[in-house]
Amino acid sequence: MKVLVLGAGQLARMMSLSSTHLGIEVLAYDVSSKQVINPVTFEVSNTTLEQEVERAYAITAEFEHIPEDVLALCESSGKFYPGAQSIATGGDRSKEKALLDKAQVPCAPYALITEKSHFIDAADKLGMPLVIKTCQAGYDGKGQWRLKSADQIDQIWSEMEGFIASGTEAAPHSIIAEKMIPFDREVSIIGVRDKGGNCKVYPLTENQHTNGVLTLSIAGKEKAAIQGQAESAFEKLATELNYVGVLAIEFFDVDGQLLVNEIAPRVHNSGHWTQQGSHTSQFENHMRAITGLPIGCTSLIRPTAMINVLGQASIPHSVLTVPGCTSHWYGKEAKPGRKMGHINISADNLHQLGERLSELAEILPEDDYPGVLDTSHALI
Ligand code: ATP
Ligand code: MG
Ligand code: MG
Repeated sequence: MKVLVLGAGQLARMMSLSSTHLGIEVLAYDVSSKQVINPVTFEVSNTTLEQEVERAYAITAEFEHIPEDVLALCESSGKFYPGAQSIATGGDRSKEKALLDKAQVPCAPYALITEKSHFIDAADKLGMPLVIKTCQAGYDGKGQWRLKSADQIDQIWSEMEGFIASGTEAAPHSIIAEKMIPFDREVSIIGVRDKGGNCKVYPLTENQHTNGVLTLSIAGKEKAAIQGQAESAFEKLATELNYVGVLAIEFFDVDGQLLVNEIAPRVHNSGHWTQQGSHTSQFENHMRAITGLPIGCTSLIRPTAMINVLGQASIPHSVLTVPGCTSHWYGKEAKPGRKMGHINISADNLHQLGERLSELAEILPEDDYPGVLDTSHALI
């Protein structure tokens, strides 16, 4: 079976690596170079998008910001999962909030902004501090501002205005203001829904971000009550979208109550731990769901942490001397802050995971790998 992935980064690569053994062949379409490539070998194919859409058994996407014409072409093939509507919802925060409201899943209080008066009203109504985000095009904390006091309104508005003006009639731009949530921590749920509507979800993941980018995730330490809230949000949203494939939901945990931050209609960085920590990885389950194969067991085999490798030219090979450690390299050109790879570390229990993280902390400089040392202390 051939699967075409829109987007040719590490997520397409890991979808390919996780499904070769199922007899699935993956090709990826790079929307910026408009080339079809093999996401593992990076070999460029001389075929076109149209030809690959025709040949594919199933089509999926590894990111949300896909040109309208490409989405329309894939949607019209009838084999695009999770489909144009889900992708568009994940790629536009105004659509995402409308979905959350419709499915009655709680999120941060918000207001949509297309004019300066809306911005002033939002600051008034929601109260400061506010997190301001572009509705379209944001990822890894890009396209965001923090409004702490009214005297910043003019400055931030002048930057927001530029973004709103750069939209077109066909693809208008807007801004959302969200109340800054004083969360205790951030967590996410990754789940999969098959073509028959059956859902399976992984255990909740606790996530640490540094400068808006995920740096460390840990799975295997959650209580049943909070897991239940996340699962209920997953089922409501996946059902509302008639979703097929892996869907990720990010939450703020405020004193044991989960508020949705955002959704990602795809495999997600906070689910990379499933490669070693669960029976079936998120990548394999996504491929199974979109090709109509039975979805696999999502339960935890052992507590696992994932450490992102950001901007580094390589992963120190000595990490492989730590028991339960695997490293995953994406083969991309190094750029500051870019997601270059990740390290998964598993253990028999949380205490042992803490000990293994402390061994890793001796190898990985704290400035480049924030959170490893502190997390190890918290677990031991
Ligand atoms: P990505 O898609 O890569 O996860 P993004 O650019 O879509 O990132 P968000 O997830 O919306 O951005 O925000 C990035 C981070 O900023 C969040 O993980 C959280 O730490 C912080 N943040 C965002 N919104 C809020 C909010 N309303 N209150 C408090 N913190 C927030
Ligand atoms: Mg996002
Ligand atoms: Mg996010």
